[in-house]
Amino acid sequence: MNLKHEILLIEDEKNICNFIATTLRTQDYKVSFASDAANGLSLAASACPDLILLDLGLPDMDGIDVIHSIRKWSNIPIIVISARTQEKEKVEALDAGADDYITKPFGTSELMARIRTALRRSSMSSAPVIGQNRYVAKDLIIDYEKHIITVNDNIVHFTQIEYKILTFLARNAGKVITYDTLITHVWGPYADSNNRILRVNMANIRRKLEHNPADPQYIFTEIGIGYRMIDNENV
Ligand code: CA
Repeated sequence: MNLKHEILLIEDEKNICNFIATTLRTQDYKVSFASDAANGLSLAASACPDLILLDLGLPDMDGIDVIHSIRKWSNIPIIVISARTQEKEKVEALDAGADDYITKPFGTSELMARIRTALRRSSMSSAPVIGQNRYVAKDLIIDYEKHIITVNDNIVHFTQIEYKILTFLARNAGKVITYDTLITHVWGPYADSNNRILRVNMANIRRKLEHNPADPQYIFTEIGIGYRMIDNENV
């Protein structure tokens, strides 16, 4: 790659910081880092990174507030680094505008995959939307213009609600969508945030879509958080 992507790492634990920085550099990313929120925010503004890796537990400020603060002026992809016990914080972080999260301890390949997906999504959203009228993954094709969904070349019929859920996940493929975000998108801001109706619809979607609904290939459940749809291959 001739143009290096710059990644800003905001993390107060030295060991994790060194590990991630070394890994990123071997993958040809440029890395800058900050060990607290104040420095992180100032670097985010001055260094213009392509992506931010953000630890939620920082000494001087809540990571969620860091996200809110960055989102006031920038759409730069943010991947949150969180501890396993921070389920609620993960949801809050995603709802605050984080693009994804990764749970400690994590493997290098998982981190790299998340970074590539987030960078690809951000370069896509700044590009013209021409050619983005189709979602393709494995045997599934969604034609947004014609409102036609095929699996293995067979047309599959979905209810309006199911179609709305499926296309929202597909347009955000690769990204975790929280239950609340999905419910708000489909049923509006005043909808009951009870997940039950969403789960019923998801079960129906999977029954129509998946070869084996118990072992989904297209839409994955992020337990306690939301859903993630497999990346669009049509890019
Ligand atoms: Ca920390």
